[in-house]
Amino acid sequence: MQNKVLIVGGGLSGICLAHQFEERNVDFRIIDQGVNESSAIAAGMINPMVFRKMVKTWRGDDLIPYLKNFYPKLEQKTGQRFFFSRKIRRVFSTQDEHDFWVDRLKDPAYEEYIHELEDSDPTPDYVLKKYGDGWVKSPGYVDAKLFIKANHDYLITKRKLNIQNFDFQSLDPENASYKCEQFSHIIFAEGYRGKFNPFFNYLPLQQTKGEVLTVKSDAFRKDEILNRKCFVLPLEYGGFKLGATFSWDTTDTKPTEHARTQLLDQYDQLSKAKIEIVDQEGGIRPTVTDRRPLIGKHPEKNNLFVFNGMGTKGYMIAPYFSEHFVNFLLDGAKLDDEVDIQRFYKKHYHRDTGKNK
Ligand SMILES: Cc1cc2nc3c(=O)[nH]c(=O)nc-3n(C[C@H](O)[C@H](O)[C@H](O)COP(=O)(O)OP(=O)(O)OC[C@H]3O[C@@H](n4cnc5c(N)ncnc54)[C@H](O)[C@@H]3O)c2cc1C
Repeated sequence: MQNKVLIVGGGLSGICLAHQFEERNVDFRIIDQGVNESSAIAAGMINPMVFRKMVKTWRGDDLIPYLKNFYPKLEQKTGQRFFFSRKIRRVFSTQDEHDFWVDRLKDPAYEEYIHELEDSDPTPDYVLKKYGDGWVKSPGYVDAKLFIKANHDYLITKRKLNIQNFDFQSLDPENASYKCEQFSHIIFAEGYRGKFNPFFNYLPLQQTKGEVLTVKSDAFRKDEILNRKCFVLPLEYGGFKLGATFSWDTTDTKPTEHARTQLLDQYDQLSKAKIEIVDQEGGIRPTVTDRRPLIGKHPEKNNLFVFNGMGTKGYMIAPYFSEHFVNFLLDGAKLDDEVDIQRFYKKHYHRDTGKNK
């Protein structure tokens, strides 16, 4: 049969796949249950550095150039803006961190990612710094709510997105049919809910709750993200995001007092500017024990696939790997071993039951 793809999940992952299939003129459809618990809550920050060790983020050299073209292209297609430029001011937490930074400045491999503050651009007086600060050249941030809305509007207008719950009872995995309609590929991009997918629940997908505040302040610069322990991200259309927390024991997205206090404590170590809280939201990130995406084919059901596990940096990872995955599906290109779910077949997949060993 001709390629005809069903994507389950219309968050960031499903949207990226949709655009890749559209580019390749492949017939596709997305089903999304209409409640998003990660992509729409995210701060959408693109940070090329891991500050703890002061090293480049995993695959940054591939991911960052790719997204610099990808998001503007989607803005053009949808006719909406959601990708905005911002640099990151990293305020160092320790003397060690500062010293690592100075080392990296001498390394040509980091030229694209970090640079020194210039005399003409001093640290604002509301920033609390003991060990200094430096610039990270981030491509910017994706306004997550605008991104989801723009892309859903686009896909609904094209009759490619249906808002409904995927019903596993109506799936025939042997014939790759859903509600009696046959597909060449059925791809699950369900975010943390992939934990409950009967075909892929053997994968070590975890839920990592995160909370963010929306705050107001007249003090902050609007062109830079402040970062130390927490981040303060100036939104294009007013207000700032202050985030984010991490907790692993719940799928309840309700905002908590505990997270609010934690964020305010972290903020107090970053800045003395007065802020006013206007909102608090919680979401669940789809994370993986080895911190790599979960991409690939079911061990036995040849038409079932997964594209998930985008973790804490989905806005950076999903664009590049959506093309990589579609090249695997349509051209038989090899999947990157680090993301291929085959890495878990042996350890976790039980052939007789299809469940976790
Ligand atoms: C507080 C917070 C801050 C974050 N900040 C950043 C950041 O600054 N930068 C960054 O890059 N990333 C950030 N992230 C992570 C980022 O949000 C994720 O990596 C990414 O959005 C995951 O996208 P996804 O599409 O895989 O999953 P999701 O966004 O969870 O989407 C899954 C979709 O599948 C649908 N679905 C699930 N089951 C079904 C079903 N049975 N039937 C129909 N539909 C179904 C859901 O409705 C949902 O819309 C943050 C996340 C959180 C929570």
